[in-house]
Amino acid sequence: MTARIIDGKAIAAELRARVADEVARVKRDHALTPGLAVVLVGHDPASEVYVRSKHTQTQAAGMASFEHKLPEDVSQADLLALIAQLNRDPQVHGILVQLPLPKSLHTETIINAIDPAKDVDGLHPNNAGRLAGGLAALSPCTPLGCIILTKSVHPSLEGMNAIVIGRSNLVGRPLVQLLLNENATVTIAHSRSRGLAKLCAQADLVYAAVGRPEMVRGDWLKPGATVIDVGINRIPVAGGKPKLVGDVAFQEALNVAGAITPVPGGVGQMTVACLLVNTLRAACAIAGLPAPAV
Ligand code: NDP
Repeated sequence: MTARIIDGKAIAAELRARVADEVARVKRDHALTPGLAVVLVGHDPASEVYVRSKHTQTQAAGMASFEHKLPEDVSQADLLALIAQLNRDPQVHGILVQLPLPKSLHTETIINAIDPAKDVDGLHPNNAGRLAGGLAALSPCTPLGCIILTKSVHPSLEGMNAIVIGRSNLVGRPLVQLLLNENATVTIAHSRSRGLAKLCAQADLVYAAVGRPEMVRGDWLKPGATVIDVGINRIPVAGGKPKLVGDVAFQEALNVAGAITPVPGGVGQMTVACLLVNTLRAACAIAGLPAPAV
């Protein structure tokens, strides 16, 4: 068996195009321009790349993009003051504080200061709690992307056995909630789980969000399983540039899985596209408009 490759790049491009169409519609019909503010503290090179990509894609979708770059040694009070100002700003419908923050800042306090209605990263406890309660919420972007990729293979996830490996607030936990909302049967695994290979062998859907290069082996998988690899790991290559690999041993998995996302070109592509979706949804909700058709 050779698994079908789930083309995250193409699915993300299609989603961005649908967002752009809806943005054009709300601009035309309601004079509403959705706006996203991204706050970057310091000079982490990976964060700078992500922020640039968010800026470009936000503008390409026809939305307003506001960038706030703050020095590494910004005080917590100054950062909180900026967030309060963005919370009040009617042109801003989504606020994203790029993580990780420097150690001198208290991440939880910063996230909790964001107006939940503008929390497009879905990390505020109000949104996490609403999601866990099965209520409408702004959900974290990477798990949303995982669900869209899965549905490109299985339009209904009802009754399917899923395993989510990893329980972070950013990926694993919200992904479990989204899968429950889709009526999947979910196992959540983490660093203390025992018999991970056996747990995986029962799963129709495998989500790896661990941060350990190629940890999930091909012979762990149920034949025909759909595998969504969230991991982004840079491994050194002798005399060359580091290579990007996921949390799944891709070549091995290709021979067993029914469908699989590549790294790069899979989940990573979806994260920013889903950020645009969340910004559009937040703008419509704040303006009292019906939820957009994306
Ligand atoms: P975290 O480090 O916050 O969480 C990792 C999770 O993996 C933890 O729950 C941990 O368990 C679990 N874990 C660690 N070791 C094992 C093991 N041996 N067996 C089973 N579980 C284990 O990472 P994130 O959730 O933030 O990210 C996970 C991966 O996804 C990373 O590679 C990251 O780069 C990538 N990522 C990709 C994104 C994208 O857009 N494609 C976006 C966000 C993340 P415990 O809780 O017990 O410690």
